[in-house]
Amino acid sequence: MAKVPEITLSSSCNRTRPVIGMGTSSYPPADPETAKVAIIEAIKAGYRHFDTAFAYRSEQSLGEAIAEALNLGLIKSRDELFITSKLWASFAERDLVVPAIKTSLRNLQLDYLDLYLIHWPLKLSQEVRQMPIVKEHAFPLDIKSVWEGMEECQNLGLTKAIGVSNFSCKKLEELLSFAKIPPADNQVEMNPLWQQKKLREFCKAKDIHITAFSPLGANGTKWGDNRIVECDILEEIAKAHGKTAAQISLRWIYEQGVSLVTKSYNKERMKQNLEIFDWSLTEEESNKIDQLPQRKGVTFASILGPHDLMLELDAET
Ligand code: NAP
Repeated sequence: MAKVPEITLSSSCNRTRPVIGMGTSSYPPADPETAKVAIIEAIKAGYRHFDTAFAYRSEQSLGEAIAEALNLGLIKSRDELFITSKLWASFAERDLVVPAIKTSLRNLQLDYLDLYLIHWPLKLSQEVRQMPIVKEHAFPLDIKSVWEGMEECQNLGLTKAIGVSNFSCKKLEELLSFAKIPPADNQVEMNPLWQQKKLREFCKAKDIHITAFSPLGANGTKWGDNRIVECDILEEIAKAHGKTAAQISLRWIYEQGVSLVTKSYNKERMKQNLEIFDWSLTEEESNKIDQLPQRKGVTFASILGPHDLMLELDAET
């Protein structure tokens, strides 16, 4: 079974976490049994860090997989896992935060999360069910009051740590100006074609860890494509190491000192994604990747609707 290195999250929680996690958002959505079986396979392969969200509808499958892994003796205790879930934008209101985490915990059959994130830096009206989201249903987030709700979740012991997702430097500045518990993590889109250099520098200075999502460019989803897994430069580097372009992307992200969550429900690929820790990129290879032309992240801006609140989800700024 693969051994995954761990990092320590910020001093606000002092938690350790495996640097690579299994994402559980799939497109089109996997049926619950497929997701559960894949998650059990991931635990067998060595994954101990799982990323879910109320919005992914994968919390139940993850909860069932954890219960079964305990029954099968694949893990001895829930404490061996690091579980992240996220506050959906429809519940981004002070008084809805604690009930929302309790719903997620019920879905997951757990007593606590390891990390709870504000999923998007915006508020959606509660009736939103479909993409693209029309402008009339999206509102600016009242970060201060929602963060108070997040702090209450940590103070109540419902989660060990709290953080954010898709937050720009500007939004983080605002949050840090009043946070009693600073965010431990900012989960954002990051890969060799969207490197988030400015945001990474900012977060490093502020002791906020970064977790990269869509590290393989989300190929096969409505918003992603094959520009990472079929990138010529990554493939050329991969050839020299006997690896794949996907593994080069994951290794490069790891070497930047950030964590990553990647999704594969395929047994072989989920194993390959863990085989990135016993070799390294040369300085020349890293420089080549650093200089790849950047394209603006398109994960959400492209599917949500082209107006300012949505476009702000492309972090960096
Ligand atoms: P990703 O991990 O970049 O890509 C997933 C796609 O790549 C899947 O189609 C997968 O297919 C394929 N794949 C996986 N390993 C591969 C490999 N070694 N070679 C070739 N193809 C491979 O994209 P993602 O799912 O968008 O991001 C990962 C996780 O991040 C999500 O599951 C979710 O947990 C999280 N996320 C968070 C946010 C947020 O707003 N916070 C947004 C998006 C995603 P197979 O399953 O068939 O292998």
